[in-house]
Amino acid sequence: MAHELPPLPYAYEALEPTIDKQTMTLHHDMHHGAYVKNLNAALEKHPELAGKSAEDLIRDLNAIPEDIRAAVRNNGGGHVNHSMFWKIMKPKGGGDPTGPIAEAIQKTFGNFNDFKTKFNDAGAKQFGSGWAWLAGKPNGEVQIMSTPNQDNPISQGLYPIFGNDVWEHAYYLKYNNRRPEYLTAWWNVVNWDEINRRYAAFKAGKGAHEPAMAHR
Ligand code: MN
Repeated sequence: MAHELPPLPYAYEALEPTIDKQTMTLHHDMHHGAYVKNLNAALEKHPELAGKSAEDLIRDLNAIPEDIRAAVRNNGGGHVNHSMFWKIMKPKGGGDPTGPIAEAIQKTFGNFNDFKTKFNDAGAKQFGSGWAWLAGKPNGEVQIMSTPNQDNPISQGLYPIFGNDVWEHAYYLKYNNRRPEYLTAWWNVVNWDEINRRYAAFKAGKGAHEPAMAHR
């Protein structure tokens, strides 16, 4: 019943030229792979947690035994974040948002361009490693935020509608130190269908008590 690395839902080179094949290969196989391996290693010490989804583990970190809390926070978070990340991108993605998420963006931020500017700004200003997010609040509204390391909004009672990885491992081979350039280009591979699916799950109130992904 160990946690498993989900397969990439497209070829390693499928997101080129926005994200190069080598970055995708290392990022998925090595980085995400290590989070899964290290999460499983930590959980071996506490078999009573074996039945919990990764989302459930990081939803209430205070409930995790102290000796593995940091490992679960970092590696459980890394597993949840990357499992989302592969799915909210796709080949020939991008374009203007569609459906309910487009309406939420317009209502909250005025227009898509202003939203992108603010989201990219959150990613650019995150010092060191972390993520930029659009997160759902308990009152049904949405907000832009960033988190350090592999922290996920779910640990703050928020719903991770979608996020972009701003760790250097996500962009350094192609964009070097030019994180803002990566943030701008990334919108070309965004999968609005999957983001609408996640937004619908949030609006349906599932964010508080159901995992955002079916597999463990
Ligand atoms: Mn990453």
